[in-house]
Amino acid sequence: MPPAALTTRAELHAALVGLRPGFVPTMGALHQGHFALIARSAGENVQTVVSIFVNPTQFGSQSDLECYPRNLEHDSAMAVQAGATHIFAPTVETIYPPGFDTWAEVGELASRWEGLSRPGHFRGVATVVSILFNLVHPARAYFGEKDYQQLQIIRRLHEDLALPGQIVPCPTIRDHDGLALSSRNARLSAPDRARAAAIPRAINTVQEAAAHGQRDARALEALGRSLLESEGLTVDYLAIVDNTGLKPIATLDREARLLVAVEVGGVRLIDNASIGVELSASR
Ligand code: AMP
Repeated sequence: MPPAALTTRAELHAALVGLRPGFVPTMGALHQGHFALIARSAGENVQTVVSIFVNPTQFGSQSDLECYPRNLEHDSAMAVQAGATHIFAPTVETIYPPGFDTWAEVGELASRWEGLSRPGHFRGVATVVSILFNLVHPARAYFGEKDYQQLQIIRRLHEDLALPGQIVPCPTIRDHDGLALSSRNARLSAPDRARAAAIPRAINTVQEAAAHGQRDARALEALGRSLLESEGLTVDYLAIVDNTGLKPIATLDREARLLVAVEVGGVRLIDNASIGVELSASR
């Protein structure tokens, strides 16, 4: 039996008096990607808090929010198996008390890529992360590179608002065919799931072209985009950007990031990888 989830601010506070835990914020629907973050935290901290909170303020549509899978019992058991010592599963009112009226507004970093397609998303993410950091007061907090723009925004937020502890980025965990694990993958039909494997293939193809000397970022982007479209995926963006500011670069003369967002069967999938360094070190 996993420990009962803590649900109120007071319960969490009482459980963590004098402790500086590792922290893994999640929205539940845990998979091996989350498991890896929790296991990493458990290896580096005596206590690990896993929060399970489907944050309403980062969803653009009510139906998307309502469709988000919720299974606290399964998620708690998995988190404990990975090494969590505390599960924090607050209600919406615990995180956003009546009269809530203060937001963490993200600047330029939220103005492109996911921020364009999902207005208000990063404001919701930055706000909930700020609240959770102040409640948990972690020594270290673990975030996946899978959500690369989110990771850069959280690093900026962490520094700008002097949030406690350190941010620890963790590599993307992938399925057998290279597709990045995501709670959304479960929504794909079997043919769409097979089609989605074109995403890591396109990333590999672009990385290989770069490794073989193609330095023109627009040409590399066109190559990746055409591969995805030929597999029937709708490309929202495929862009080669600088590692931290996430602005497009023209020439691949340093290590950079390849960002991808596609839609397949009504499901939006994102992925990213390092590009412009030795292939063996690039994923
Ligand atoms: P979520 O529950 O989707 O909000 O994700 C919670 C944390 O897990 C975030 O830091 C994500 O970046 C991370 N995460 C999600 N999928 C993966 C993955 N495939 N590999 C590594 N980390 C992931």
